[in-house]
Amino acid sequence: MHIVFAASECVPFAKTGGLADVVGALPAEIAKLGHQVTVYLPLYARIRPRIEPKIGQLAYAVRSVTVPFRHYSRFAGIVDGGKQNGVQFYFVESQELFDRPELYGPNGGDYPDNAERFGFFCRAVLEAAKQLGVPEVFHVHDWQTGLIPVYLRTTYAADPVLRHAATVLTIHNAAYQGLFPPATTEQLLFPWDLFTMDKVEQYDRFNFLKGGVVFADQLTTVSHRYAEEIQTPEFGWHLEGVLRGRAADLRGILNGVDYGHWDPATDGNLAAHYSADDLEGKRACRADLLHAFGLNAVPDSAAVVGIVSRFATQKGFDIVAAIGEEMAKQDLVVVALGTGEPALERFFRGWAERHPQKIAVQIRYDEALAHKIEAGADLFLMPSRYEPCGLNQIYSLKYGTVPLVRATGGLDDTIEEWDAKKGTGTGFKFYGYDPRDLLEELDRALAAFQHKKSWTRLMRNGMAREYGWDKPAREYAEVYAEAARRRG
Ligand code: ADP
Repeated sequence: MHIVFAASECVPFAKTGGLADVVGALPAEIAKLGHQVTVYLPLYARIRPRIEPKIGQLAYAVRSVTVPFRHYSRFAGIVDGGKQNGVQFYFVESQELFDRPELYGPNGGDYPDNAERFGFFCRAVLEAAKQLGVPEVFHVHDWQTGLIPVYLRTTYAADPVLRHAATVLTIHNAAYQGLFPPATTEQLLFPWDLFTMDKVEQYDRFNFLKGGVVFADQLTTVSHRYAEEIQTPEFGWHLEGVLRGRAADLRGILNGVDYGHWDPATDGNLAAHYSADDLEGKRACRADLLHAFGLNAVPDSAAVVGIVSRFATQKGFDIVAAIGEEMAKQDLVVVALGTGEPALERFFRGWAERHPQKIAVQIRYDEALAHKIEAGADLFLMPSRYEPCGLNQIYSLKYGTVPLVRATGGLDDTIEEWDAKKGTGTGFKFYGYDPRDLLEELDRALAAFQHKKSWTRLMRNGMAREYGWDKPAREYAEVYAEAARRRG
């Protein structure tokens, strides 16, 4: 089968979150199963230097495809990014739309023409596929590519080749839906009868993700628990009704992680290597981490609590803020890495300024430091309000860094509560979205940390868990087969 991935992010080219990790890893796994796989990405400014030196100049697979808008047309060059790990990459080039410093907009916000940018991308992928190969299945991701299924069943419904292509939409985060003014309908040349509540309209907005949910043949999301959660008002962000209507076609497939990049036995970012059989190197990683954060003379009894995150409301740091002073009194230090909403950045800065011996924060995006935190911390804190899958807690397991998480979405699916009596479990979970619940669970974790022998058992339990891509890849292949069968 030929599968085309269309996405707005992909490691190593462009990343703002977990979506990029998935699109960076899953296609190669699908190719390993014997399928032909192609990935289309927008040619953002940051991607150019990655591909230009390699091939001297941009190599065009297709010089120009045309995407018509209401009063004008735009043209996309389709750049051949070559093959990696059995996967063919193409980049959709439009200097006016994609040659910008950010993927979606400045300071975590949106560019005003994002409807045009991603509407253009969706249609350019379809036009490119007509020349470079129409797949059995288009696998699209989140709102940015949510219009591909819509185009296929409306604008291209009578196209002799595209009409047979099936679609799978994966929802990585239902809170980001791509909401735009009603006039987007006309701008993207859709018929007005698409702008109704049972199709792309949501409270008088044109909703990209909803269009994908309504028109895709099969739907997936990134954990079992989140597949249930998004069918409720709390997590569905007004899409719960339409998602419930498609429950029979919606499947939760837990993300895998790429152990080629995330394994303390081989990780090139670490001061020392270690594994479940020989944990000695983790001590050096802890010392290296504390040094990187300027924390001195931290006793062995103090648990190092790591945080690596987008600083977004979703991630639950408001409940950390509510107990910040109490936390700072405990036998712990906090090392936090992240960027995002100004209010949360302010909280972290202020917290660290008040407690320079115990709380340290670095406000930036730093891949290498993220690895050092995974390796050097004792506990990894993810108090998310909601979490579709979450990757850092899965990395933490592998690094023997015990996750302390709120039981939601993928956090609930991947972390099993530690039972000291039986010696089973992999981490600590709290349930209510409440600072008191977090504090109680933290107390439990800190108490457990004092018992080194059982703590080592807890670390090893987590390190033995496997969340590689082979199982999820097989599950996706089943979904592709089902989508193609229904369309065929
Ligand atoms: P989300 O996609 O909601 O941001 P995930 O846990 O699925 O959350 O994925 C987050 C990814 O982004 C992880 O790979 C994590 O290491 C990385 N990440 C987030 N913030 C930073 C940062 N400031 N520096 C380095 N990596 C980060």
